[in-house]
Amino acid sequence: MEHNRSTDGVWIFGDCRNHFQNRVTLQLIAKGKELAETLNTEVTVLVLGEQVHQYAMEYTAHGADVVMVAEHPGLKYYQVEMYTAVIARWIEASKPDILLAGATSFGREFFPRLAKRVHTGLSADCIGLEVDPETGNLLQTTPAFGGELLAEVVTSRHRPQMATVRPGVFQELQHNSKATGRILYPEIDVQPEQRVQLLGSQRQQVRKNNLEEAQVVVVGGRGLGSKEQFELVSELAELLEGEVGATRPAVLAGWSEEERLLGQTGKAVKPKLLISIGTSGALQYTAGIHGAETIIAINRDPRAPIFKMADLGLVGDSTTLLPLLLEALRKRIKNHYLEHIASSVRTSGGA
Ligand SMILES: Cc1cc2nc3c(=O)[nH]c(=O)nc-3n(C[C@H](O)[C@H](O)[C@H](O)COP(=O)(O)OP(=O)(O)OC[C@H]3O[C@@H](n4cnc5c(N)ncnc54)[C@H](O)[C@@H]3O)c2cc1C
Repeated sequence: MEHNRSTDGVWIFGDCRNHFQNRVTLQLIAKGKELAETLNTEVTVLVLGEQVHQYAMEYTAHGADVVMVAEHPGLKYYQVEMYTAVIARWIEASKPDILLAGATSFGREFFPRLAKRVHTGLSADCIGLEVDPETGNLLQTTPAFGGELLAEVVTSRHRPQMATVRPGVFQELQHNSKATGRILYPEIDVQPEQRVQLLGSQRQQVRKNNLEEAQVVVVGGRGLGSKEQFELVSELAELLEGEVGATRPAVLAGWSEEERLLGQTGKAVKPKLLISIGTSGALQYTAGIHGAETIIAINRDPRAPIFKMADLGLVGDSTTLLPLLLEALRKRIKNHYLEHIASSVRTSGGA
């Protein structure tokens, strides 16, 4: 859409699937509020589906000024054609200035199509958003060339300025049940005839994953060599009360769920401690772990690039080192509990 008419508002696509685990919409509302303040406008969240009005209150409690709801049985399941049609109509009617979505599998599939439909640009996987106070344009920071460079993208001539943003980059605002907002039910254009007919869906059983918030993340890569060895990574993460991450080859081999992929096309994490095992340190992977405070790498090749960014490197075979590490940790945890029990007995004996 040519930027020749006045435009208004910061819009955020409300990705309410797995709502309590997927916090990206809430994170975007917090950032959207900052942008809206500079632009002297409002934050609107768009929610599509069936029985989704329940999410509207959740979004206003996290800072949304307005929630636009499309309730329709035909929107029960996400379908790219339908979602594009509904939101494109809303954009044409209301001309928002900015439209953001999380860089989830959802946002990554449907935002490019939507951007094409409304004739505007799209920056994918942004890690920073600011408004240029002089021009009012959105400065969209996104990794380029496999994360080697950071590019600043500006959509100066078209509106809306569209971007997908990685989960975990921004911090959500606290839930405030007293906050109020306007909930609108605008006209929707649900086309009955779709080229793809969804007959049903079944939720995949995956272990709960809290990667973006985890204080400890243990990552397994191709060097582990087998699913059995990858299980040891999960065990290590469990002992450290952390989460498991994976590189793309580990996901492709079926050792880990895709939700645990880290990197350019996966998640970005910011733990206090990250242990990277059997990973070479490819740029596309390390793009997701720059936020880690301390990195320990285990690799049998002393020249592996991962050692350049690691704070501590262990050169050795993971099949030898991992069992040793697990044994040492279990012993430490056991001693800690024994000490704890002994001290409780001493305290209660003395009382
Ligand atoms: C457009 C694009 C996007 C991509 N996005 C991503 C992404 O988001 N995330 C991602 O992870 N990848 C991504 N990739 C793939 C990426 O380029 C790398 O191929 C991948 O990260 C490598 O994974 P790895 O380190 O597990 O495997 P490898 O590069 O094969 O490294 C395995 C390492 O294990 C070591 N090793 C082998 N055996 C042992 C052992 N017994 N003990 C200890 N060490 C051992 C080896 O020395 C080696 O360094 C992307 C690629 C492209 C082209």
